[in-house]
Amino acid sequence: MFKSVLVIGHFRGIRLEVHISWLIIFALLLTTMSAGFHNQYPEWSLATVVVTALVTALLFFSSIVAHELGHSLVAIRRGVLVTAITLFIFGGVAQMTRDPDRADDEFWIAIAGPIVSFLLAGAFGLLAAATSGWYQPVPVALGWLATINLMVAIFNLIPGFPLDGGRVLRAVVWKLTRNPRKANETAFASGKLVAYGLFALAVWNMAAGNLVGGLWIMLIAWFLLNMTQAQGRMYLLRERLAGVRARDLAEADVPLVAAQRSVEAWLYQDVLPSGRRAFLVGSDPAHIEGLVSLSDARRVEQSQWPDTRVAEIMTPVAKLHHVAPGAKADEVLQLLNEHGLNQVPVMENGRVSGWIDRQRLLRTVEIHLEVNR
Ligand SMILES: [Zn+2]
Repeated sequence: MFKSVLVIGHFRGIRLEVHISWLIIFALLLTTMSAGFHNQYPEWSLATVVVTALVTALLFFSSIVAHELGHSLVAIRRGVLVTAITLFIFGGVAQMTRDPDRADDEFWIAIAGPIVSFLLAGAFGLLAAATSGWYQPVPVALGWLATINLMVAIFNLIPGFPLDGGRVLRAVVWKLTRNPRKANETAFASGKLVAYGLFALAVWNMAAGNLVGGLWIMLIAWFLLNMTQAQGRMYLLRERLAGVRARDLAEADVPLVAAQRSVEAWLYQDVLPSGRRAFLVGSDPAHIEGLVSLSDARRVEQSQWPDTRVAEIMTPVAKLHHVAPGAKADEVLQLLNEHGLNQVPVMENGRVSGWIDRQRLLRTVEIHLEVNR
């Protein structure tokens, strides 16, 4: 399969990765910066121009990673799991598995990124001043890094969703009104306003002859609008599903397979006729030994299927993720997302009372949305 991200490292359990689209912005930044240095300092050699631009660009992207780490470390400290930091064409994003439950958490997670950028701007500014008499490319690069980090901090504080400022706004409204719904609506409306404002700015730039700059602003506006709308839909979904529990989403008919059954018999006689991708292993729902899925079967050579028992390839019950019948719908979705699961049994006191499958869950969610308008 074509991989669109490249993992560049790990930090405190967070995967640091670069999306393929990032190469576009990196190349663009490198060329515009080189051209800028060349125009401003014609006495610099070509090698000096290129190396300075390259080092500066890499330090700039490290600054973006630091900004996202700011969000991530505060999030982790406040109990929100962060899986990855991804650099892509419009900057960086820390991938969190859920939204914070409290206004305070939302506020500090959101503000941490811009604080890091402000601190970096200050540090680079001081270094630029301290090195002003040095070999010229050094203070020039440091000065550029101070300015760009300041711009990153300020741009991100624009109070429109999904920018950090939009999250800060949401947290403040949430705290003041104690009404998360109102907070979501405010952040959503301000996000749309910011995106439309940027569209207007883009048109104005293009009309003034700045075609490339205008187009770039338009792309950012389009991206922000999409993100705002996606986030708005997600909040709506959470609101509508507020009273829905795991037991409402589960199907009672739990697919079971005996531990001694061969993988071959299971695949051809159980999986194919039923169209189900996973089965619980055991003789009855009160005595479950584990869960076996198609992805477990794929790890076994086809020639071994007749001689392998499902018990040998299953995930044993001790390691199995499960939910209680009273778990909230969004907790179930979060569990599926956090662990990349396609199904999860509903269990209480070691007894399985039902089964939630991702596809069925999404269908049920749709139906709930139709009914609870
Ligand atoms: Zn940020």
